[in-house]
Amino acid sequence: METMFNTKIQYLKGVGAKRAEILNKEASVYTLHDLIMYFPYKYIDKSKFYNISEISNNNNSYIQLKGIISDIQIIGNNRARRLVATLKDATGTIDLVWFNGIKYIENKIQINKKFIIFGKPTLFSHSYNISHPEITSLEEFEETQQIPIPFQPLYNTSEKMKKNGLDSKGISKLCYQLLSTYYHQIEETLPDYFLSKFKFIERKSALFNIHFPQSQQKLSEAQNRLKFEEMFFIQMHILQSKITHSIKSKGFLLPKVGFYFNEFYSHHLPFQLTNAQKRVIKEIRADFISGKQMNRLLQGDVGSGKTIISLLLMLIAIDNEFQCCLMAPTEILANQHYDSISLFLKELNINIALLTGTTKSAKRKEILTSLKENKISILIGTHALIEDTVMFNKLGLVIIDEQHRFGVEQRAKLWMKNECPPHVLVMTATPIPRTLAMTVYGDLDLSLVDELPQGRKPIITYHYNQNQRDKLITFLKKQISLKRQIYVVFPLIQESESLDLRNLIEGYESFKIDFPPPPYQVGCLHGKMNPDDKEKEMQKFIKGETNILLATTVIEVGVNIPNASVMLIENAERFGLSQLHQLRGRVGRGAEQSYCILLTGDKLTTESKKRIQVMLQTNDGFEIANFDLRLRGPGDMGGTKQSGMLEFKLIDIIKDEKIISFCRDIANSILKNDPMLEKKEHHCIKAYLKHLYQKKNIYYKIS
Ligand code: ADP
Ligand code: MG
Repeated sequence: METMFNTKIQYLKGVGAKRAEILNKEASVYTLHDLIMYFPYKYIDKSKFYNISEISNNNNSYIQLKGIISDIQIIGNNRARRLVATLKDATGTIDLVWFNGIKYIENKIQINKKFIIFGKPTLFSHSYNISHPEITSLEEFEETQQIPIPFQPLYNTSEKMKKNGLDSKGISKLCYQLLSTYYHQIEETLPDYFLSKFKFIERKSALFNIHFPQSQQKLSEAQNRLKFEEMFFIQMHILQSKITHSIKSKGFLLPKVGFYFNEFYSHHLPFQLTNAQKRVIKEIRADFISGKQMNRLLQGDVGSGKTIISLLLMLIAIDNEFQCCLMAPTEILANQHYDSISLFLKELNINIALLTGTTKSAKRKEILTSLKENKISILIGTHALIEDTVMFNKLGLVIIDEQHRFGVEQRAKLWMKNECPPHVLVMTATPIPRTLAMTVYGDLDLSLVDELPQGRKPIITYHYNQNQRDKLITFLKKQISLKRQIYVVFPLIQESESLDLRNLIEGYESFKIDFPPPPYQVGCLHGKMNPDDKEKEMQKFIKGETNILLATTVIEVGVNIPNASVMLIENAERFGLSQLHQLRGRVGRGAEQSYCILLTGDKLTTESKKRIQVMLQTNDGFEIANFDLRLRGPGDMGGTKQSGMLEFKLIDIIKDEKIISFCRDIANSILKNDPMLEKKEHHCIKAYLKHLYQKKNIYYKIS
């Protein structure tokens, strides 16, 4: 059946094959429905005519005038030629100026004829003029008034589109054509009771008014309805996939809390769990006995103690005779997890193995065999765990640390390792603002560790500038005399890796001069070193043999050395906010007062000034993530780039938090009573969902 969803745009009157191809390529408009969903990004108020005498500094935006042309002059020589026409109304005169297309204008205008002018007045040597206004003869204007546009819509158009008559006016004409032909075929996508309950206008009317607003009021109503629709269907899609997933995916039952958990909890846990940690473990215990596969995101600020939570959960899995794995994004972090977990469990007789890209092949073989024979209970490692050769005997629980460092597919590969998928917990210290969590990660359940262990002193952050180095060195020496240790981090950005490395090496030389041995010991660590040397440097720092560890961002995530209490970040202006926060999170892990020092040059861009300001202002990861979202826009947020879910037409992921939660609540309540959308009043939702998400798949394949 021909519908607006499957009728190709080519067949709309005024389009044709060539323009259709341009619309496909440049605007992703393939069908009639795509065009109707190609919304203007802005509107210009054409509902009012101004008097020339009203023009002043106060209204120097676009305005519309009506008058006669009283004079036409061509001024200047070849290169600086311009056409100046004077427009006159009952209240005064204003000059209209053209520098290009003079011939065209000359042919178009005549003295004493009535014209409508649209443009932006600017003050030029004491009087106003308008350069390159839109100019329409009164007759022409009255003819086109059958397209009633008090607000002229502006559409995103590329050069190529403009060249082919698809500028804002061109698109607007096509939309008018489309709406006037197909208006009555536009189907409602929301149930009637929504319209009355939430006071939404009909879809037809909303689509007409988003392209051709009849008034400011109508425009707001249209935006309101279409914004809701946009987010509501995203939420319906996410929540429905979640339901389908949970129906399909049976999960292992892990009902027993047995010897390993109890023994560790009662005799080896070195501290009291925080309430937040206890709550999260309870939430996950409920998943373990639900019979459904768990897919959960565990968020908690840096230092909130996520590792111990994951360890306790692994012990439950082991109590139920399952294997577990813990994947970390860097080798350093995997090593650290291996060391600390081995230490925690040293008296429990649990077999733990470490597998990374640098595990020697004999050892690797041995691990792979034991793993298959169920002789290893906890496998810790890096990306190496994803490889096909890594096969478990009975994998029950997968934990992914610092999940934002992994791609979606990499993660998915881990849960394919069993016939029945294991429970999956992904942990992150990069807080995802609520609005994003509800959309991009909307298919995961969410747990929050919103409390830091007791006795932590908030980290004090300072901003130093390069020429305060002496003062800085004095401060660092004081800290060392108090037996504290110091990280110094240098930026390392892929594009200029060798240059950055030189910065680090030069920094190392100068630190060795400022902090000579004895008593001082300075270490240096970067990604290019071989793994054994890296591990040696790390161990020296852990044991307190080095006072200062210079490093690239290899230490950014997860590293936990409680005695290190100063984090000095060189060229802090080159880091993003979430990275700065992660780095700062490496200190403040012990009972001592910790410091983070942001060292920058003295000339800072507005952006970097803002970032430094935010860091000085707050220690709260969520607040920082919200700032980050505002400064950078959502496209850059960790791990969301590939998702393609952030291209909204009307929704603003930052400003529209209320609408997003509202849509999620409504979607939830509908699916609760009618999960398959079988009720008659929900058929319209079902049909539109089908169109939306079928279409997406097809086009993703094409492009
Ligand atoms: P993150 O959440 O950033 O991964 P970690 O798991 O590395 O944090 O924990 C940071 C530090 O806090 C570790 O030294 C850990 O042993 C310690 N820790 C965790 N939970 C508690 C607690 N309830 N009380 C005291 N210290 C804790
Ligand atoms: Mg961690």
